[in-house]
Amino acid sequence: MPENVKLMISKLEERGYKAFAVGGCIRDSVMGIMPHDWDICTSALPEEILSALGKHNVIDSGLKHGTVTVKFDKELYEITTFRTDGKYSDNRRPEQVTFITSLEEDLARRDFTVNAMAYNDSEGLRDPFGGQEDIKRGLIRCVGDPDERFNEDALRILRALRFSSRLGFEIEEQTAESIRKNAGLLKNISAERIASELTGILDGKYCERVLLEYPMVLSVFIPEIKPMVGLDQRNPHHIYDVWTHTVKVVGNAPQGKVMRLAALLHDIAKPCCFTVDDRGTGHFKGHPELGAEMASHILKRLHLDNDTISKVKLLIHYHDRRPMPEPRQIRRLVSKTGVEMFIPLMELKRADTKGQNPETIPGKLKKLDEIEAVFRQVTADGSEFNIKSLAINGGDIIALGVNEGKEIGRLLSEMLELVIEGNAPNEKQALLEEIKKRLNSGDDTKQKNQ
Ligand code: ATP
Ligand code: MG
Repeated sequence: MPENVKLMISKLEERGYKAFAVGGCIRDSVMGIMPHDWDICTSALPEEILSALGKHNVIDSGLKHGTVTVKFDKELYEITTFRTDGKYSDNRRPEQVTFITSLEEDLARRDFTVNAMAYNDSEGLRDPFGGQEDIKRGLIRCVGDPDERFNEDALRILRALRFSSRLGFEIEEQTAESIRKNAGLLKNISAERIASELTGILDGKYCERVLLEYPMVLSVFIPEIKPMVGLDQRNPHHIYDVWTHTVKVVGNAPQGKVMRLAALLHDIAKPCCFTVDDRGTGHFKGHPELGAEMASHILKRLHLDNDTISKVKLLIHYHDRRPMPEPRQIRRLVSKTGVEMFIPLMELKRADTKGQNPETIPGKLKKLDEIEAVFRQVTADGSEFNIKSLAINGGDIIALGVNEGKEIGRLLSEMLELVIEGNAPNEKQALLEEIKKRLNSGDDTKQKNQ
């Protein structure tokens, strides 16, 4: 336990209050994981916390929501008065909270047994709901009756999935059954809170198992997932149905919000684009482009930030491009994706490949390595294959005597085309020569026409 936490606990104890480190930090400590933050619970009321700890460290007095936030050595700590939650009427927050003096009652309002443990040096571990035992067994289990707990706060459904995905714990049977039964309650939860849990679920090391088991929970807020489940692709490149394939791609994609959301949604349009030819082979023509649009709608609905949405959209749009590993084709693709997103695109394609027919994987991965090598070659000098990174700009063309805006834009596009196609180097002198040639031949035609 960090010295600051010990210090705060002992300052509260000196005044006769109970105080414990509680929740996630105790769960992580019991598991031998370094906690990322420490929460404290105490019998002291918010004003009493303020006077025990000295006001100078307090960031948020907590008089509004009962949680005092304290800053020590740049670290923030939350100190919350023991409480019970009153009645919940809307599946997301209690109508009122009541401050109490019993730790046990405070632990009883917490979501899962593994999160309902507290510790301090004087009393040791307090674990009234068997959290330690559930950690040993690797189980996420509701404190109390799961149906009641999920009805109180439906977000707990996604929290269960997130902890399962992060810790690799199984969700205990009754809790799991209740999740399936009550998933529809997530309709009452705000988009922001759903999005934050969803990204947490996707980012977990053990997300594959959770995603395979609970597509119907995700379908409550992304109904587009439902038709993916069980859709047989009838294609030699694939041995899994669309959802199973998707889950493998998520698991194989690098961690991070953009990559994992792109993986989750990369084939979202496959059900809409599915056709079977007369030989019985399945095709999904147009699914990357339509998928990019669908993903953008879905992520807007979930109130994700614009930067994430535009990156995910781009990755999905280009995820099925298969350029040959040769400079011209790679330059062309870079001009569309931009340099920054090219490697992420390759990462998505690698993850996508690993979720396909195992026989085809080594060949496809080798090709991606070759593509990446060519990408490094063609961008080694900082070239980005867009107008902005051309070695000439509008000013250079004006200096040659062209003064019409449209004409300048057209010439720049033509020069970019030349560079991408490998018909001119991206060098000022060479490009200016090219332009001069074009201007002169333009004069020729004019003269001829006269
Ligand atoms: P993390 O490592 O993700 O921070 P955590 O367990 O610390 O996990 P927090 O969201 O920080 O999770 O919440 C701190 C504690 O508050 C939890 O351990 C749990 O005891 C309790 N808690 C948080 N959210 C809820 C909820 N929706 N319902 C009941 N208890 C909750
Ligand atoms: Mg926490």
